[in-house]
Amino acid sequence: MPTPIITDGTTDRVPNAPRVVLPSAQTFADRAARFAQLARGHAMGEFLQLMGHVAQAQYEVFDARPAATPSAEAVQRSLNYGMPPLSALSTPRDAGWRADLREIVQRVRAAGGPAAALAAVDALTDAEAEALADRILAGSTLNADAALVPFVGAALQVWFARAASALDVAALEKFDVPTVCPVCATRPVASVVRLGGVRNNLRYLHCALCSTEWNMARIQCSACEQDKGAHYLSLSAQDNDGSDATAAARRAEACDECKTYLKIFYRDKDAYADPVADDLASLALDLLVDERGFARSGPNMLFHPGGG
Ligand SMILES: [Zn+2]
Ligand SMILES: [Zn+2]
Repeated sequence: MPTPIITDGTTDRVPNAPRVVLPSAQTFADRAARFAQLARGHAMGEFLQLMGHVAQAQYEVFDARPAATPSAEAVQRSLNYGMPPLSALSTPRDAGWRADLREIVQRVRAAGGPAAALAAVDALTDAEAEALADRILAGSTLNADAALVPFVGAALQVWFARAASALDVAALEKFDVPTVCPVCATRPVASVVRLGGVRNNLRYLHCALCSTEWNMARIQCSACEQDKGAHYLSLSAQDNDGSDATAAARRAEACDECKTYLKIFYRDKDAYADPVADDLASLALDLLVDERGFARSGPNMLFHPGGG
């Protein structure tokens, strides 16, 4: 069956919509509920259910400790030059993220998570955990890391999202590199076209690491900023693992200029679509777009693509 290709020329902007929206604990509560919903009747239901337990644990540990704060220099560089204040690769991590990791593992174990993988996370020395964290943040995880990535990735997400949630959003206004997160400089996992309120019908990119969202015009490639080569690929309802509404809500935005793609989720088609959960529930779409020669432009921190 041919894949429908849809071109969407919407570029309208609403002047009073926020440019940047910071995450909160609720981000993870909503994600946990979405994973649980998507797991029902899905071919990868067991995996999605586990990821739901991970997201629930992220929600529960979010308020367990104070937010890390960026250095005074990083805040100043952000104000003066629009540099992301919590750059993923250069921000020193305190031991709090490893405490988050231990608590996430405890909670997922109590929910019936995979004993061997959780024991392997517990067995990591601090140095090994830091080295794995560095590989996840750099996008250079190894096949041998695959079983540990969801838990270590989840802990890093909580630590960075908690820090992001405490920032002054007005101080991020100078940021002008729309292809990476204004808070941590990580690539987006996906984009979401929002429903309702002042953000209605606007496209926001969703940071793969800290869950900050930032606005970008709809018919513009999220990797190279060109608006010429963008087109949309989606699975037919039969090939999609989910309801018809879910199928209609998911597309891959592929760019002929830079030969990359990122998924886009439409909340007017499915009000609960979540950029992280729906991404992992639609890996069949990645296969289809990969086959057509497009490389994915942003990571999912809960998944090692080579070994999952
Ligand atoms: Zn971020
Ligand atoms: Zn492009």
